[in-house]
Amino acid sequence: MMNMIKSPDEIALMREAGRVVANALAAVREAAAVGVSLKELDDVAAASIADAGATPAFLNYRPRWASVPFPGVICTSVNDAVVHGIPNGYRLQDGDLLSVDCGAFLEGWCGDAAVSFVVGTADPVDQELIAATDAALARGIEAARIGNKMGDLAYAIGGAAQRAGYGLLADHGGHGIGRTMHAEPPVPNSGRPGRGLKLTEGLVIAIEPMLILGGDGDYYHDDDEWTLRSANGRRAAHSEHTVAVTAEGPVILTLP
Ligand code: MG
Ligand code: MG
Repeated sequence: MMNMIKSPDEIALMREAGRVVANALAAVREAAAVGVSLKELDDVAAASIADAGATPAFLNYRPRWASVPFPGVICTSVNDAVVHGIPNGYRLQDGDLLSVDCGAFLEGWCGDAAVSFVVGTADPVDQELIAATDAALARGIEAARIGNKMGDLAYAIGGAAQRAGYGLLADHGGHGIGRTMHAEPPVPNSGRPGRGLKLTEGLVIAIEPMLILGGDGDYYHDDDEWTLRSANGRRAAHSEHTVAVTAEGPVILTLP
């Protein structure tokens, strides 16, 4: 429990790591255009992180469940890919819905954030999905307050998504973050108000709703063992911020 709690000085350092991530995501978004490959976007993120004197958190990351280390600096998940898409030679097409997830370490502290957007001409259905995902994230952040419980936060995220009629990716959610990217506590995307861990000052968590057009949140993995796709084949969006619970309320650490 103690190491889930960060001091104000430690949160200030995490803010700098978060800034690196936000700037890398902004650079990727700026570079994303029809005809640009996912690998080229990965190179943009790599350069941005290196220029900041930071280290990518995803590159060669290998959790217990993975038989191969992740080969990219960012996750690039296109259309029915929900998360963990590998930045390969695929070239973006007009109307693609791209989710980009990025993590970086600066001076031993980690930041983690994700953003979704449409490349080129957007289908309004995709824009609404992205807006709903961003709104679910905003609800979760708003609930990241001293005195609330994790269930309140989870319910804020999941309730927003479900009321809007979207599927929530099953078995996946946010996480504590600090000296490691994935730490205690789990931050579920659905839950019951008043249940779970009490949120206290200095808790730092990554909040990350993953919404799918319809369906029940079922998914499958590509043969690359990473790319996670919606079982119904429909498009998905992912938004994430690293957030500190403070006496002044929730503070987003992954901003430029
Ligand atoms: Mg992430
Ligand atoms: Mg995360």
